[in-house]
Amino acid sequence: MDIHEYQAKELFRNAGIPVPPGEVATTPEEAGEIAGRLGGTVVVKAQVHAGGRGKAGGVKLAASAAEAQEHASRILGMEIKGLTVEKVLVTPAEDIASEAYVGIVIDRATQAALFMVSPEGGIDIEEVASTNPDAIRKLRVDPRYGLLPHQAYLLGSFLYPDVKLARQAAKVMEQLYDAFTTNHCSMAEINPLIVTPEGELKAIDAKVSIDDSALFQLPEVATFRDLEAEPESETQAREAGLSFVKLDGNVGCCVNGAGLAMATMDLVKYYGGDPANFLDIGGSSNPDKVVSALKIITDDPNVKAILFNIFGGITRCDDVANGIVEATKRIDIRPPIVIRLTGTNEEEALEILKEAGFSAYTSMDEVVEKAVELAASA
Ligand code: GDP
Ligand code: MN
Repeated sequence: MDIHEYQAKELFRNAGIPVPPGEVATTPEEAGEIAGRLGGTVVVKAQVHAGGRGKAGGVKLAASAAEAQEHASRILGMEIKGLTVEKVLVTPAEDIASEAYVGIVIDRATQAALFMVSPEGGIDIEEVASTNPDAIRKLRVDPRYGLLPHQAYLLGSFLYPDVKLARQAAKVMEQLYDAFTTNHCSMAEINPLIVTPEGELKAIDAKVSIDDSALFQLPEVATFRDLEAEPESETQAREAGLSFVKLDGNVGCCVNGAGLAMATMDLVKYYGGDPANFLDIGGSSNPDKVVSALKIITDDPNVKAILFNIFGGITRCDDVANGIVEATKRIDIRPPIVIRLTGTNEEEALEILKEAGFSAYTSMDEVVEKAVELAASA
């Protein structure tokens, strides 16, 4: 789950990281009021789940409350990378002597948290990685020991030759690692971490992603979910207990099990098609789930064919078949449906489908090829 900058800053603040204060506004008037309360020059910042807001015109300095209100009226409603800005953060403007990058991601290859730091902050880290890779220092943290003091200092001194700053930065590294682990992050980033003319470090931007699977044990963080910032289909799927990711293709996929779902998507690609989604209906035998799944898939106007690929184990094929028949009664399903079922109660399922006028396949290759063909000719 991605969260907004102002929410990420709250997590950072709780971990002790120096973060400037700030408040969120949804209207220009509110932004003006906050700016008036804060006094002095402020920054008005678009709150969307995307980086590069500065370049897109979503981060503006304002010398007065009136100017802050003016900027907010332009930024609210603006589109950044396809996302509409619904909120702005108003925060005191900081004087910047230098900008650095500090980030942690989960590195799948080494199965650990990986620090990446660079004295070239403020800009995209991918850009630094491609144009000047030597300006990035990486450090893997052994989860058994956590970030050790000498490692934190090593990272800090890579950013700042000055010992006092390096020590301050080392502390920020420890605090960020703490925020990262406590909140089950998959990514936590400060870009930029600034040095003020007085020699203080401050995190003036914050970007965090939380592992969805950990949200059940983080009730406060779970409330950070911004439903307006996520595709509606994903919200519906979560409520129905389905694992769903919307994609851009035209073959709607309804599969049980994440592994089979991915294999199915690979095969769709192999036969020249493009999946419209990843969807795992899970291991349960609940026809209602199939109805919800079909509803979500058919709501997507891009979908030109629907592909079922079910391997019956705990999932019973006859339950899935009943779900499909039930769904066609309850909702108007426009695209053609092709079905492959095999495993537990396969015979019963084929009987149910035959009676309802569907033909089913047992070969995965055949059914995928057929789905791709139907989608292409629609
Ligand atoms: P991003 O573009 O989405 O990463 O948004 P940031 O919060 O990182 O802001 C982009 C850039 O705006 C920063 O790298 C800074 O150069 C500038 N900026 C942001 N906040 C301030 C501030 O308080 N004072 C000054 N002078 N510049 C700021
Ligand atoms: Mn930034």
